[in-house]
Amino acid sequence: MNKKINIAIDGYSSCGKGTLAKELAQALGYVFIDSGAMYRAVTLHMMRLGVDVADEAAVERALEGVEVGFLNKGDQPAEVTLNGISVESEIRTIEVASKVSEVAKIDAVRTKMVALQQAIGLQKGVVMDGRDIGTVVFPDAELKIFMTASAAVRAQRRFAELIAKGDDVTLEEIASNLAHRDQIDANRENSPLTLTGDYRVLDNSELSREAQFSMALDWVNQAL
Ligand code: C5P
Repeated sequence: MNKKINIAIDGYSSCGKGTLAKELAQALGYVFIDSGAMYRAVTLHMMRLGVDVADEAAVERALEGVEVGFLNKGDQPAEVTLNGISVESEIRTIEVASKVSEVAKIDAVRTKMVALQQAIGLQKGVVMDGRDIGTVVFPDAELKIFMTASAAVRAQRRFAELIAKGDDVTLEEIASNLAHRDQIDANRENSPLTLTGDYRVLDNSELSREAQFSMALDWVNQAL
């Protein structure tokens, strides 16, 4: 009964992976880890230092000064930290989103983040969302979910989220950022987003949050 598993949730940008991961973690008493937040924190660091993210050697040098971690918030999802300070809101901007996929395709960046993610997974009872969680980070995860939704639905959702936060963005800007990131994330050499036969596919274009949650919870119970 007390068996704990790791759950990997991968998929395109803005499919609602984080929402589902948080809900599952809360229901199961598991730890939720947003791996994208880690890549965003590294990107924020590069931007603050004025590092050209197209210059891999420069990114690699600056990476030495990066310590990514998580701040435990009790009942709330943990907040990602950069050199000990929470950067949870600073990383959710269109500026960071426009550069993160360039940074995330660099080998040294991935090696450093994957090592951290795997260390967290050793304890089991982790729900992690990202792009390579089921393929590279936790290839042995007991449950792997691949989330997808139509491009229009994804752009509209992310747009509504950013507008609610008071950001000055257009729907077109968001749609083109998502397409740009998906293109890089699915085609990079190192750990591209790939749908393999291990995954359960969840298309939530027309599913309510409740329906998607109960579908995923059924899969968890089968995996336990
Ligand atoms: O999940 P989120 O959209 O916040 O991720 C931001 C970016 O971080 C992705 O577009 C991708 O480039 C990168 N990422 C990654 N591998 C992961 C998680 C995110 O390359 N496991």
